[in-house]
Amino acid sequence: MQEFDVVIIGAGAAGLFCAGQAGQRGLKVLLMDHAEAVAEKIRISGGGRCNFTNRDLDPQAPHKHFVGQNPQFSRSALSRYTPADFIALVQKHGIPFHEKHKGQLFCDRSAEDLIAMLLAECEAGDVVHWQPCSVKNVAFLASKADESSAGSYQINTDRGPVQARSLVVATGGLSIPKIGATDFGYRLAQQFGIPLVERRPGLVPLTFDGAAWAPWAQLAGLALPVQISTGMQASPHAPPLRGSLPPEGAAFALGRPGGKRKAHMAFDEDLLFTHRGLSGPAVLQISSYWQEGQPLCINLAPTVDLPQALAQAKARSRKLSANELAQLMPSRLADAWAGHDADWQRPVNEAS
Ligand SMILES: Cc1cc2nc3c(=O)[nH]c(=O)nc-3n(C[C@H](O)[C@H](O)[C@H](O)COP(=O)(O)OP(=O)(O)OC[C@H]3O[C@@H](n4cnc5c(N)ncnc54)[C@H](O)[C@@H]3O)c2cc1C
Repeated sequence: MQEFDVVIIGAGAAGLFCAGQAGQRGLKVLLMDHAEAVAEKIRISGGGRCNFTNRDLDPQAPHKHFVGQNPQFSRSALSRYTPADFIALVQKHGIPFHEKHKGQLFCDRSAEDLIAMLLAECEAGDVVHWQPCSVKNVAFLASKADESSAGSYQINTDRGPVQARSLVVATGGLSIPKIGATDFGYRLAQQFGIPLVERRPGLVPLTFDGAAWAPWAQLAGLALPVQISTGMQASPHAPPLRGSLPPEGAAFALGRPGGKRKAHMAFDEDLLFTHRGLSGPAVLQISSYWQEGQPLCINLAPTVDLPQALAQAKARSRKLSANELAQLMPSRLADAWAGHDADWQRPVNEAS
């Protein structure tokens, strides 16, 4: 049976990085992955250019940026290995990159550059890499087993059994099974009696049921800067059905009135209308914080005091309210919004 100091299951971003680090510290490392291609999720990340770090992360308080039930979880790792350390690694490998938005760094060419970098780091650490290689099962050899292997893990794979004192499970989350994602890590945690927190999607678009979204589907492709927030007490005017957009103002609320109050989170980012709902950086960001039943507020004209602007228009203009609205936000959005209520088709000076 082959023996290693550490076996790492999963050759994604986490597994590759861990393998390179452990190998370069002198450990005998085996890295294995069941997929044909290495690091497929890095390959598709950041639209193919991988947003590999954020320059603005505060190394003194990295937990502020970590989303999860235990914000302190990341404190130790992220304060000892900062964005500056990763940037130095990228520069050492001569990978060109640029800052796109709010400190986010992307590869100039392709995320492939980062995969090549991580593989080179593994090579520098003499990491043994088995891929594709499936894991059949994992057992912990407790102290009453034979002396030499006591306290080791035995990993039975389709390339034969291996043993190691340390086992790293880096098999990632559940998203995109067709590029290798499985629930392996969760099942293994259950096997070893490790409690699991509830899993929920994060950094995802919001989709609506077809009928509720139909009036807005025509806006697919429209992007605009918004302020998006969640965690406030539900508005008494919130609509009864999640996913309906009341044409009553430029900020709207989705969710059940009276939802439980949560910490307030807000982002100033771009919103993208799609055929099935809402996406873009604003929605991807807030999706990690929004809980079902909470209101989600989107100010579609964050740089304008909309009530005041419309009140001023009422005092000086005879144009249709819809046309005044179109001066204050993208006209496609104003048209769709105003199309929901006959009042918007009246002259603004007659509006109540
Ligand atoms: C579309 C998209 C865009 C993204 N863009 C960015 C971005 O720009 N910047 C950013 O920081 N993050 C981005 N992310 C998130 C980022 O890709 C992930 O957080 C990251 O890849 C997770 O790395 P990981 O190593 O934990 O897991 P993964 O990359 O998922 O790696 C897990 C590995 O384990 C293997 N595996 C699974 N089950 C088994 C098993 N039973 N046996 C053996 N091997 C197994 C898989 O084949 C896979 O190779 C994006 C994600 C998506 C989906």
